[in-house]
Amino acid sequence: MRYLVLADIHANIEALDACLADARARKYDRTIVLGDLVGYGADPDAVINRVCALDPFAMVRGNHDKVACGIEPAEEFNSIARNAALWTRDVLTQEHRDWLAGLPQGPCQVDDLMEICHGSPFDEDAYIFDELDALRALKASTRPLCLFGHTHCPIAFDLRKDTLESTAPSPPLAVQFFLIGQSKYLVNPGAVGQPRDGDPRAAYAIVDVDNRRVELFRLTYPVEHAQAKVIAAGLPEVLAHRLAVGR
Ligand code: ZN
Repeated sequence: MRYLVLADIHANIEALDACLADARARKYDRTIVLGDLVGYGADPDAVINRVCALDPFAMVRGNHDKVACGIEPAEEFNSIARNAALWTRDVLTQEHRDWLAGLPQGPCQVDDLMEICHGSPFDEDAYIFDELDALRALKASTRPLCLFGHTHCPIAFDLRKDTLESTAPSPPLAVQFFLIGQSKYLVNPGAVGQPRDGDPRAAYAIVDVDNRRVELFRLTYPVEHAQAKVIAAGLPEVLAHRLAVGR
């Protein structure tokens, strides 16, 4: 069983389509979505249509999804995120707002190997940045592999006995690692639609359960098309600029 893992798509249809074309060529069986399908980008309805067509096996909601569908207020967001979230709420169809509102809160157990969350397994809105955050998350996690998003930075934490190691992969195209017996893992595949690790390429992952292998991919996509749509939509210009620098 091979799972395609998508996190933080953020209404960027160009980045999503690039990832889907690449993933199709590599073959996968099921799709998993780690939340924040919308917010920041100019194509929230198109992204939701595309994700629904994939018929995901497991999904969790992100903080932007909650605000965009109106089940949480935008007050906690900074002004740029709030502006984009409210724009998204206005343009989304009622059907898609309802669909977002029905997305489950993480963590969700996918199978015996994996669980998924948006922020962390103890709090869907918490950020996992450093090893302290990671240790707390690994303690809360109920599966050997916990997949998370929210920070938009690819990283893998690996807890073996009492030793925690982390690697922030910056692959030329792909990097892979194998899940070893007694270890617990916490992996962020990176963001499809708004990378923040200084690399503007779209990120996604494939988890091969039978071979206990995780592969992380980076792909170029037509950033300038996504940027032009952000500007044309009247969203804050900084949201277009950051796509080109991956920040
Ligand atoms: Zn996000």
